[in-house]
Amino acid sequence: MASKHASKVVSAEEAVPELIEDPVLVKSEQEAKADAKADAKSNDTPTSVEELAGVGPATAKKLAENGYATIMALATASVAEIANIGSIGEKTAQKIIESARGALNLSFETADIVNTRRKAMSRVTTGSNELNKLLGGGMETGSMTELYGEFRSGKTQLAHQLCVCAQLPIEKGGLYDGKNPVTVAYIDTEGTFRPERIIAMAQRFELDPEATLKNIQVGRAYNSDHQMCLADKVLQTAQEKNIRVLIVDSLVSHFRAEFMGRGTLANRQQKLNQHLHALLRAAEMNNMLVIVTNQVQAKPDVFFGDPNQASGGNIVAHASQTRLKLRKSKGPLRVVQVVDSPLLPESECVFSITEAGIADE
Ligand code: ADP
Ligand code: MG
Repeated sequence: MASKHASKVVSAEEAVPELIEDPVLVKSEQEAKADAKADAKSNDTPTSVEELAGVGPATAKKLAENGYATIMALATASVAEIANIGSIGEKTAQKIIESARGALNLSFETADIVNTRRKAMSRVTTGSNELNKLLGGGMETGSMTELYGEFRSGKTQLAHQLCVCAQLPIEKGGLYDGKNPVTVAYIDTEGTFRPERIIAMAQRFELDPEATLKNIQVGRAYNSDHQMCLADKVLQTAQEKNIRVLIVDSLVSHFRAEFMGRGTLANRQQKLNQHLHALLRAAEMNNMLVIVTNQVQAKPDVFFGDPNQASGGNIVAHASQTRLKLRKSKGPLRVVQVVDSPLLPESECVFSITEAGIADE
């Protein structure tokens, strides 16, 4: 399915059924035979999803379409997630996951292997040298970064800047390898995406503004279901479209608003958790830069009820590998603080929001 939703504004009612309508996996006799054959395969360690027990070409295709294109993605999935894809069912899902775990020998790995994998991570420039320095070279791909702060603290501006910077050649701090243009997916939940800002920021870096805009797929999400569908869509098309950046601006607003009206906190948390897992899977699957924004109010957030209970904030905080807190300073200046990072010290720096984008003070 082409991602036509991305560039056109459609109502949620229109878009949701289109996105979630997925033909149930009906195997042809031939496909079923191929799957059965796959089951009976030798005990050699599988190296691709198709070689796993319980997976044949039809199932592999279906899994890939739902974002499970690697053995790692399957090994870390839950039975419920996989069982719900097409007509896979619980029993086969269990078999697939066990086989994936077996193939990966999922337990421990030596740190040098972790190190090799980490070297595949790239860093995207933020437009500010100071901020890049604070982040150890830029925003890291392959994991999720949360930008949180008050209204007007610069979350959306920084998100726009990364949409542009990611399209720069690798040697200039972007992700463009000179062959495959970088696609950016921008899930806009508040209607604050502005192409004008992208054009101004592209000009500063001498990128063709038209081409830069064309590489950004904007999905306007009208409710949390729609937002989750758009994220799934990104997972499905990540490899085909070379989606290397995923922005969700902002992550929790729909969940928050909808909870006020209906549902229970537990339900909402569960949905949010599911959404976060999809985002994390995208980050790992395609070595993607995943940025989520989160607005926090200056006063205690009454929405979350008892402050001692798990809140949307906590769930998001646990899922984000890096958390950056933004706050306003004088005029165009903003302060960024590293609040939580597995490798950066807790420190801060100042950047400036200019007409041409994020820059040094
Ligand atoms: P948040 O998403 O955190 O609510 P934004 O990223 O939208 O905040 O940042 C808003 C700030 O960006 C405002 O202070 C605004 O003045 C500034 N800003 C927006 N556009 C421009 C521009 N073209 N030139 C300079 N500053 C801008
Ligand atoms: Mg914003």
